[in-house]
Amino acid sequence: ENAQLKDIISHAKEYGFVYPSSEIYDGLQAVYDYGAYGVELKNNLKRLWWESMTRLNDNIVGIDASIFMHPTTWKASGHVDSFNDPMIDNKDSKKRYRADVLIEDRALAMEKEGKVEEAQQLLSAMGKLLEAEDLDGVRDLIVNENITCPISGTTNWTDVRQFNLMFSTQVGSVAEDSSTIYLRPETAQGIFVNFLNVQKTARMKVPFGIAQIGKAFRNEIVARQFIFRMREFEQMEMQFFVRPGTELDWYKSWAATRLSWHKALGIPADKLRTHDHEKLAHYANAAMDIEFEFPFGFKEVEGIHSRTDFDLKSHQEFSKKKQQYFDPEVNQNYIPYVVETSIGADRLFLMTLCNAFTEESNEEGKSRTYLKLHPALAPVKAAILPLTKKDGLPEKGKEIVSKLKYDFNIIYEEAGSIGKRYTRQDLIGTPFCIAVDHQTLEDDTVTIRHRDTTEQERVPISELHGRIAEATSF
Ligand code: ATP
Repeated sequence: ENAQLKDIISHAKEYGFVYPSSEIYDGLQAVYDYGAYGVELKNNLKRLWWESMTRLNDNIVGIDASIFMHPTTWKASGHVDSFNDPMIDNKDSKKRYRADVLIEDRALAMEKEGKVEEAQQLLSAMGKLLEAEDLDGVRDLIVNENITCPISGTTNWTDVRQFNLMFSTQVGSVAEDSSTIYLRPETAQGIFVNFLNVQKTARMKVPFGIAQIGKAFRNEIVARQFIFRMREFEQMEMQFFVRPGTELDWYKSWAATRLSWHKALGIPADKLRTHDHEKLAHYANAAMDIEFEFPFGFKEVEGIHSRTDFDLKSHQEFSKKKQQYFDPEVNQNYIPYVVETSIGADRLFLMTLCNAFTEESNEEGKSRTYLKLHPALAPVKAAILPLTKKDGLPEKGKEIVSKLKYDFNIIYEEAGSIGKRYTRQDLIGTPFCIAVDHQTLEDDTVTIRHRDTTEQERVPISELHGRIAEATSF
């Protein structure tokens, strides 16, 4: 793990953003819990996504489908047969690895040594073998490249096998007729199976979209890089149903819309890039990732996929229920094509945190750490801080809290030096600290201290609501 990521992970834990799950039992790999400020930040991200999908587009509505779905769903979607990762075990350490990741790591190391061309050759050789499902060939590649196990240091590898990423469980008691069902590995299928329900009941006309936020589960073999790759995570997906033949135009326009959304949240353009997939999934006729430069390099945050009519057609086949739409404009029945935008809420959270984490030192060499979050995302919008615990200042402070708390998440704190209290708010990214002092009692003004500049200004209490509202709108 690199140093910057380490700092971010410990900051997240220390200041109430993210903890390892069930930490008192030493945690559970690739599962995490969100703390007091983490849940606020995550909710803000989800709400902004939801509102920019459903409220800003009069042709997009939301749903909330269940995690459990009829098992045939995953037959139809292709997940039972092909939602696999190639894995390999080291016989000495008994550790399991993703074969493709071992090779990717080697290519990365080659690149660092300046062997860019060799690295490219290795990756393209692997791509071809995986496409041809030549698992023995993938193993040969690992052996020929002399790739060693990071734990045991040996090259004593097993065969490469496919490993399905879906978690399964039993419905019904074991004594009765139980049947195997899966925890959904993506939220999209809940949208597809409800396509006609939503289209009819919300009276939608193609082109239209359905948005959803919900948990998804994948038994990831390589679980690392903090909340970047989790076994239980949350997805925010939008499936946009379009007339066949128009899908590539919609694909381009959604890619542009989503990229500008990330910029509007405060991600600098040079930290974002798009990456077109050369190798397309079985359901897609175009696909790209929006990537962010994490401390461990440029990695996918969001996928934009032109999924054709693959899913609806397959559900029609398996369910024997027509999945067609009658388009009055062209007087035709058809299965719509689908353009999807798919982003992980946790990965978006990690991007936001990495981008906001700021360490600065001033002219005197004093360093300051703060989270430079867009005020709309900040977990706490303002902290009300009476200078002393006496002379009626706490009462005045609480009066201000009661004016603001119905619209904003506010913290009230009276203990400790004012400097320490400012520092604490910097660490959780609070944009405004509002100090209440003796002058406040005389003229109803307070001092606002701004997080990013540490500058202070005197403003009337009556202006606070408007100031915060303006800064925290998106
Ligand atoms: P990756 O290549 O990183 O495994 P993917 O291409 O399998 O991702 P998709 O199936 O396209 O990802 O999922 C859409 C989005 O869901 C991703 O862009 C990512 O933000 C999020 N996501 C997928 N898997 C995970 C995971 N294990 N943990 C957290 N977020 C995830």
